[in-house]
Amino acid sequence: METAAEKTNLVGLSREELAAAVAAVGEKPFRTKQLWHWIYHQGATDFAQMTTLAKPLREKLAEIFEVRKPVVSREQTSSDRTRKWLIKFADGNEAETVYIPEDDRGAICISSQVGCTLTCTFCHTGTQKLVRNLTSAEIVGQFMVARDSYGEWPTPMDGGRMISNIVMMGMGEPLFNYDNVSKALKIIMDGEGIALSKRRITLSTSGVVPMMEKCGADLGVNLAVSLHAVTDELRDVLVPINKKYPLKELIRACREYPGANNARRITFEYVMLKGVNDSEADARELLRLAKGIPVKFNLIPFNAWPGAPYECSTPEAMDKFVNILNDGGFSSPIRQPRGRDIMAACGQLKSASERERLKRMTARVEALVPEGAEPAPRDAAGNA
Ligand code: SAH
Ligand code: SF4
Repeated sequence: METAAEKTNLVGLSREELAAAVAAVGEKPFRTKQLWHWIYHQGATDFAQMTTLAKPLREKLAEIFEVRKPVVSREQTSSDRTRKWLIKFADGNEAETVYIPEDDRGAICISSQVGCTLTCTFCHTGTQKLVRNLTSAEIVGQFMVARDSYGEWPTPMDGGRMISNIVMMGMGEPLFNYDNVSKALKIIMDGEGIALSKRRITLSTSGVVPMMEKCGADLGVNLAVSLHAVTDELRDVLVPINKKYPLKELIRACREYPGANNARRITFEYVMLKGVNDSEADARELLRLAKGIPVKFNLIPFNAWPGAPYECSTPEAMDKFVNILNDGGFSSPIRQPRGRDIMAACGQLKSASERERLKRMTARVEALVPEGAEPAPRDAAGNA
């Protein structure tokens, strides 16, 4: 029935794979470069737009290949201009992509998996069972649909891009889907297409120690580490992958991360949880852990979600924490929560799609309930 699905999607193929696909249909190698330019520089999705190719060739390619991006099932823009896309993949699975604007640029936050196999206790994504890894096409596709939304094709060559940075901080653990993530990022970094510099890309990991060195050597992107606790005892609870790769190993992997130096620091992300990890002693221990590592801090006020077992630290506790880090010689901005009104802030990413699903489900259930019947009880979040 779905004839389109039988065609090979060119989006998400590495340069080498695209070359092989071109060779397999009997075309000369230079066609690879042309196609790459049309797809990733011009943003063309229709072979008919590819006017540097002769018409018969365009028609031949269109019969065999397609340039398919995921579908945006919903786009929302927050009162602070944060934009969020609920993106639907061919198999019906969904993931969320968020754009966080600054004045004349901004970062797009990309998901690497549908759900997450890890179960960090403060993270809503962690309560959603992993459905699957995203493919390289789906990862690059998130970037491409965001660009569609901002009309950023062809690739702006003067550096003036609204979507100027990428953070791999959406749903999922990117180092558990390394092959697809690295393929996607290499496509995005390729100088003849989207051409985003590795310096503008940050990958966030919960601490998959054995993959960190490879990530630095192979991709050279900036690294962010979800630290969140300064003792193994607490980190075992907050970020359970710590049981496998404890703090000592994680800190060593940070110290050895290829390409990190004082000009290009690793970010330690630290979610502020009231009465859990926000004491002055925690801050001092954090300074001790950071000693000798080119690091900067990113303190994240906890974003609550329905049923979360934590609260955000008080402003006073956060101030004290920041002051200790500042006195220790680190600037440590508190990340302003963005897009809270559309549930686009860190760790809330499961919620909107989940709530949508719940809403649809309740609508269906309500349609079955005879008129005048008592509605099902709801919790504070409106969930039945
Ligand atoms: N899996 C990766 C990347 C995605 S999470 C990782 O854990 O690093 C992106 C960041 O948001 C991580 O630092 C994560 O710890 C943080 N985060 C998760 N839930 C949060 C919440 N409810 N409030 C604030 N930050 C949260
Ligand atoms: Fe997964 Fe990161 Fe959430 Fe932990 S914080 S559950 S690793 S997405």
